[in-house]
Formats: sequence, structure tokens, C-alpha cells
Amino acid sequence: MNPAAYWVIIVLGASALGYFLFRAFRGLRTYFELRGKRLVTCPENHQTAAVELDAKHAAHEAVHHKPQMRLSTCSRWPERKDCGQQCLGQIEQAPEDCLVHNIVINWFSGKNCVYCGRSISEVKEWWVDHKPALLTPEKKTIFWDEFPAEKLPELFNQCAPVCWSCNVTEKFRREHPELVTDREPSDLRVRYIK
Ligand SMILES: [Zn+2]
Repeated sequence: MNPAAYWVIIVLGASALGYFLFRAFRGLRTYFELRGKRLVTCPENHQTAAVELDAKHAAHEAVHHKPQMRLSTCSRWPERKDCGQQCLGQIEQAPEDCLVHNIVINWFSGKNCVYCGRSISEVKEWWVDHKPALLTPEKKTIFWDEFPAEKLPELFNQCAPVCWSCNVTEKFRREHPELVTDREPSDLRVRYIK
């Protein structure tokens, strides 16, 4: 074969591979950008709703053309399953700001545990393995992700931050009060708990 023909084949092959990788990268990037639960204000009742975008479908579309966003879940479904998904505009305007992950990190960052006084965000792996909790007005501590996501904005106004260790301790105290003997309470405990 003519050496020039080899070069033509190599250049065409490299171009095809580059084009394929570019498309695949666009699909993957779309998937990672759109996945995750988000909070929006439902245009129908003006209350907070927790929604998820159909990231897999959008990633598949992004391989070929600009993807159309659509919801895959909503806390108001199935009652409002046939809504017009008008809330998508809010996500398009601020896709990062409405992510539950970011909302929760922003709220806990800079806050101290009401039991031990430690900074929540300074706890090692506080987001991965040592997730923080909330102290409710009923004086009960619950991990933040045990609440429905759409309730979080309201709960953040009513609850106090609790670190992972103190939540585990308080849970043990609630479930086995006969095994716990309190020492002198700290100032924080006196102020917030007693
Ligand atoms: Zn603590």
C-alpha cells in the first residue's frame, strides 16, 4: 500500500476516535452535572419541593445534541405527576445553588455543635462518614438526611447543629438512660439542652 494511504487511514482513525471521545466526555459531564437531589419552589403551591433531574436521559442526549432537561422524581409526585415542570427554569438559572448537597454543606459550614462546641466542618470526613445531625425543638437529635429533603429549609430555621459523635452519644443516652451517668453539664448543654 502507498505510504500516503497509511497516513490517511491513521489521520481518519485518530479523528474518529477523537470525535467519539469528545461526545462520550460531553455525555459523562452532563450526567455528573445534573445528578443529585435539588430543592425548588413549586410554582403551583409556592412550597419547597425536592426534585431530581433525569441525568441518565440527558447524558444520553448530550452525546448527540443539546440535552432537554426533565424531572425523574419530585416530592409532589405522584399527585402532581402531570405538572408542566415549570420549576426547571429555577434549576437552569442556578443549578449548583439548588443542589441539596450544597445547601446542606453551606448551612453546616461555620457552625459549631451545640453539645461539644466543635466546628462541624472540622470533623474528619464530616461529609462522607461522619454526617452531622439536627437538634429539633423537641430536643431530639436526628441525622439531617433522615428528614425529607423538602423539609430542610424549614428545619434549618428551627433546629441546631449537632456533630456526628454527639448524635451517636445522644441516641445512646435516649435508648439506654439506665447506662448513662452525666458529669457536670457544659455551658453549651446548659444553654441549649437543659
Ligand atoms: Zn458535638
